[in-house]
Amino acid sequence: MSNLFSIKDRVVIITGGCGVLGTSMANHLASEGAKVVILDRNAKLGNELVDSMIAKGYDALFLETDVLNKEILEQNKLNIMQKYGRIDVLINAAGGNMPGATIAPDKTIFDLQIDAFKKVVDLNLFGTVLPTMVFAEPMVNSKKGCIINISSESALRPLTRVAGYGAAKAAVSNFTKYMAGELATKFGPGLRVNAIAPGFFITEQNRDLLLNPDGSYTDRSKTILAHTPFNRFGEPEELLGTLQWLVSDASAFVTGVVIPVDGGFDAFSI
Ligand code: NAD
Repeated sequence: MSNLFSIKDRVVIITGGCGVLGTSMANHLASEGAKVVILDRNAKLGNELVDSMIAKGYDALFLETDVLNKEILEQNKLNIMQKYGRIDVLINAAGGNMPGATIAPDKTIFDLQIDAFKKVVDLNLFGTVLPTMVFAEPMVNSKKGCIINISSESALRPLTRVAGYGAAKAAVSNFTKYMAGELATKFGPGLRVNAIAPGFFITEQNRDLLLNPDGSYTDRSKTILAHTPFNRFGEPEELLGTLQWLVSDASAFVTGVVIPVDGGFDAFSI
């Protein structure tokens, strides 16, 4: 069974790898023997993260990127191919909500800042589509590879306030299924595309919505927890089992699925 879940020596790219969830994924996959390439726009955090991983004996590389810039992504691909000679796994984790794109409780759709809405769609949707276009190419050439997109609970059930983020993540879920068909039917069944839809995890991109300045829960947090059968937020580590299953051959016949990891939020109403 341990062989079935093995990810040893897989070359794994994680966009947004310096984020709270990305860092946890990067450390876990590297600890399981994967060669992890962290792509992020934050060079300071990226270099610190890779230094700390190498100090633990892991195989890790940081490359600065912008997931919305195809030219930079192409350059990243050249660097990765030069160092490792292949790409086995792409995890599209760069993303998140932006404060300007949130409709405050005393505002309505008529107050929506359309530029902020577009920025959220750009980052979450095109920030998934562009890296897929660039990094799926070596996978297609070797007829083997796997892509994991990070969608969101907000794609499954529209959440109040985060209209742009929800729309963008719903598009990511749809694109996941589209790409599963596109790659397998045109290039072969060794290519898989799936997504994880995390529920609520307190990280940089949602801290202001979930925590008051003094660290106590906002009313929104209390509402979320009341709708979560487990009655708590998730810990980043709780995504790792699902991630390893999707990265490894244990899920060899699984493609086009979006898996909620959410303490039951999606399954529960009142
Ligand atoms: P985070 O804000 O901690 O990390 C996001 C990372 O993406 C950061 O390191 C940031 O530098 C990087 N990034 C942003 N724009 C970029 C760009 N243009 N190019 C390259 N890198 C860029 O967020 P997180 O909570 O760790 O989120 C990771 C993913 O999980 C996101 O897609 C997010 O939408 C999703 N998600 C998070 C939650 C949650 O509760 N935290 C829930 C559902 C889905």
